[in-house]
Amino acid sequence: MTLPTTHVTFPSGAVSGDSPVLAVHPLEGGRYAVVTAATPFHPLDHTWPDQPADLGTLTVAGVAHPVVDCLTGAVGPDGGGLLVGADIPVRRGDEAWSWLVLHVVEGEPADAVGSTAELRVDAGRRALLSAAHSGCHLLALALNAALAPRWRKDPGRRDAFGNPDFDSLAMASSVMDTEASTDTYRLGKSLRKKGFTTEAGDGLAALADDLQAVTEAVDAQLAAWIAADAAVRIDVPGPELTARRRWQCELPAGRAEIFCGGTHLHNLGELSELRTELSLSADGSELVAVTRPKRA
Ligand SMILES: [Zn+2]
Repeated sequence: MTLPTTHVTFPSGAVSGDSPVLAVHPLEGGRYAVVTAATPFHPLDHTWPDQPADLGTLTVAGVAHPVVDCLTGAVGPDGGGLLVGADIPVRRGDEAWSWLVLHVVEGEPADAVGSTAELRVDAGRRALLSAAHSGCHLLALALNAALAPRWRKDPGRRDAFGNPDFDSLAMASSVMDTEASTDTYRLGKSLRKKGFTTEAGDGLAALADDLQAVTEAVDAQLAAWIAADAAVRIDVPGPELTARRRWQCELPAGRAEIFCGGTHLHNLGELSELRTELSLSADGSELVAVTRPKRA
């Protein structure tokens, strides 16, 4: 089987489009994966599954099929079978492989291959996921700034504003849903070795005692950024699913950039509020941030 890497339109915010069906592939549980040449659907990424799949409808040969899931598929250079999600043995973007958006439907669509499919993403759900994802990136920058005094030495990795990049150095997992982004950070030995401290000293309280102040600093920064109605865009070097895209946000202090495969707001003014809730595990080894956007 040889198929070209799917072209995607979701980075620009598209939620609909028409495209020829290239293949229909049976999945476990009686479901089918429909592959089109291009799509507005954002699939779950198999390497970094932070943003959930788009849902919606795929209409082909006059029949509307609910898209109940959307996954990443890949076909290897040996022309073997199509692999799905966690079964893919290489990281996203391996250029020897074809990378496919799989629209998962319940029944086998008749006469699909060669016909044009009408693709419609559930736009309300997409908007909520985009808000949560933009909130996730803003939280990263605001948290990096609020925790900057806790670095005893330069960890060598800084964010767009020059702060030590706590978010990427401590990140264990990041998961969005339609309500919030939940970011889990590991405060273990390796972070301590890089220079981060959770203990009291040098005019700082212990992180556990400082959590309220850190939360307030983060929330104040998030509120200021939303008030500035900063523009958000995705820099897209190519139309392929695997193109290395960058989230860019024109914040008052300058442009922030983060590599990102997801979907986003167009302006921070689309939100009326963005607040985070920080919690530290009892043993102090894990910090969790739950960041909730409210749409304007
Ligand atoms: Zn992202």
